[in-house]
Amino acid sequence: MIALNTEAHVNQGRWLAVCPVCSVGLHLARGPRTVGRRFVYQGGPCFGCQYPLTVGWPDHADLIDETLRRRLPINRNWSPNETIEQLEAENGVWL
Ligand SMILES: [Zn+2]
Repeated sequence: MIALNTEAHVNQGRWLAVCPVCSVGLHLARGPRTVGRRFVYQGGPCFGCQYPLTVGWPDHADLIDETLRRRLPINRNWSPNETIEQLEAENGVWL
């Protein structure tokens, strides 16, 4: 079975991904368990459907975290289509 890819996003300060097969939300870890920019979710299987997954990480995940850290935790959100410039502009409104 070939692993399917899903993109990481941030919801209320948590890095998450959604399984493209069963739509379960997967809480991602950052740090030593990342392999390059890909986090192979706990060895591959989705917690919901057991389908093997890989997670696509943005090149600038650290910068996203740093930019979001200036906000209240509930407002720390990012999706792959948002730029750092957009996050900084929102920081003036959503702190
Ligand atoms: Zn699944």
